[in-house]
Amino acid sequence: MIVIGSGIGGLVTASQLAVKGAKTLVLERYLIPGGSGGSFKRDGYTFDVGASMIFGFGEHGHTNLLTRALADVGQSCDTVPDPVQLEYHLPDGLTMQVDRDYGGFMDRMAARFPHEAKGIRAFYDTCWQVFRCLDAMPLLSLEDPAYLAKVFFRAPLACLGLARWLPFNVGDVARQHIRDEELLRLIDMECFCWSVMPADRTPMINAGMVFSDRHAGGINYPKGGVGTIAEKLVAGLQSHGGEIRYRSRVTDVIIEAGQAVGVRLADGEELFARRVVSNATRWDTFSGDGSPSTTLVDADHTPAREATWRRRYQPSSSFLSLHLGVRADVIPNGLHCHHLLLEDWNELESEQGVIFVSIPSLLDPSLAPEGRHIVHTFTMSEISAWSGLSPAQYKAKKEADAARLIERLEALLPGLEAAIELREVGTPRTHRRFLGRMGGSYGPIPSMRLPGLLPMPFNRTGLKGLYCVGDSCFPGQGLNAVAFSGYACSHRIGADLGLNAWALPA
Ligand SMILES: Cc1cc2nc3c(=O)[nH]c(=O)nc-3n(C[C@H](O)[C@H](O)[C@H](O)COP(=O)(O)OP(=O)(O)OC[C@H]3O[C@@H](n4cnc5c(N)ncnc54)[C@H](O)[C@@H]3O)c2cc1C
Repeated sequence: MIVIGSGIGGLVTASQLAVKGAKTLVLERYLIPGGSGGSFKRDGYTFDVGASMIFGFGEHGHTNLLTRALADVGQSCDTVPDPVQLEYHLPDGLTMQVDRDYGGFMDRMAARFPHEAKGIRAFYDTCWQVFRCLDAMPLLSLEDPAYLAKVFFRAPLACLGLARWLPFNVGDVARQHIRDEELLRLIDMECFCWSVMPADRTPMINAGMVFSDRHAGGINYPKGGVGTIAEKLVAGLQSHGGEIRYRSRVTDVIIEAGQAVGVRLADGEELFARRVVSNATRWDTFSGDGSPSTTLVDADHTPAREATWRRRYQPSSSFLSLHLGVRADVIPNGLHCHHLLLEDWNELESEQGVIFVSIPSLLDPSLAPEGRHIVHTFTMSEISAWSGLSPAQYKAKKEADAARLIERLEALLPGLEAAIELREVGTPRTHRRFLGRMGGSYGPIPSMRLPGLLPMPFNRTGLKGLYCVGDSCFPGQGLNAVAFSGYACSHRIGADLGLNAWALPA
């Protein structure tokens, strides 16, 4: 088995295949595993590349997929529970903190919007219904009829409950219960925080997961940095006979008689396998309008159904991101790890509109030198805003935009600029280069109003022998979501090759 890429989706697929007894090789173009869920070190700091608000480390149920994926290969991560998922700092002085404790969060929301107390309860309780359905069943491949039959037999009500919510978006449900415009905007922001879309375009299944799991399994930060998850998955893969090779960029999927049979690396080496999995995005895997010139599969072999997907989904923006090492005295006492800032509701989806902030050294001080903290901040930015610039223009824009972001952040962290001791600026071009993602995109977003998660593709592709895994497959972005995709992909391959155990996991 060959897996192209060591993002969390690729690593969960590979480690699960190794557990099933398949000989598995992961090929990673970069120096470290994890992709957007990796970590890197600079001058005594351990910075997360992207993800830092981590779901999936719960102890119970079936949605704790990071806990499960690690345990399946004999690994675990020490985590630090975060008492608050995040704090919003929104226009007109609206602030809201999302406590780990559901009752505490409900009280806070009802105190701020007393006239909507009943509607708030009804909306978030509906999210719990979705979550309980998900959490009641082992999450494997929805493309396997045998799994569907078994899971329906084990948890029929949960399956029916879930099927009911599949075609809905959050906005439809929120408006059934809530009238207050400011509150509906806050719910837009609750969605935007992880889906980078307002409620009307965010699938209800994902919201059920996120809005409930933050209070169930909670948000837990892996000690030593988010990259620890990928490192431990690699260790688990290796202990089950699997291999990983770094600095191994795949340039082509080798196709013989209409079937994927192996891969070609940038240095010309060819490797063959019974099945090939791409953890690159679908835009980087298949050819099509607006693709990079170097997709893994050429236009002649790209299945027709990929064109439908491209019509329905577009790549979201990338990010301008700053990794800062700062003096600890600039962080106010009692500040929480994650924050979202927006000054004007009209700028929700704009270039460099919403600001995301993460200060993970508040949860794990070992990430920064003594007396220092990490401030990781990012804001949506289009690659087109950074294209066609001369080197001097690019450098100047990088400086100017980073300075503006720091200035805006002074509202949360007064004195920030003077307290910065280390500064790394990443643009959409940096994200594209280091993550190998088209346009440096965060992931797919609907280009039209779609019925919830229904149109999202699963792991099989129209090209025999080739599967996709990761955030451009069902159920989308986020470490726990791509872990789901990894479980589903390995299960589907296991079904195709007769490697799966008969019984569903406990
Ligand atoms: C700034 C930012 C913040 C985020 N915050 C959060 C958060 O707080 N919580 C959360 O859950 N999620 C967050 N996410 C999203 C989450 O990180 C991603 O959805 C998830 O990590 C994507 O995983 P993936 O497996 O799809 O692939 P990726 O992470 O994209 O990894 C793909 C891997 O494949 C490799 N690769 C690609 N092409 C090739 C090739 N041709 N040959 C060899 N190797 C190749 C890449 O180098 C990479 O290592 C964030 C993302 C970003 C960018």
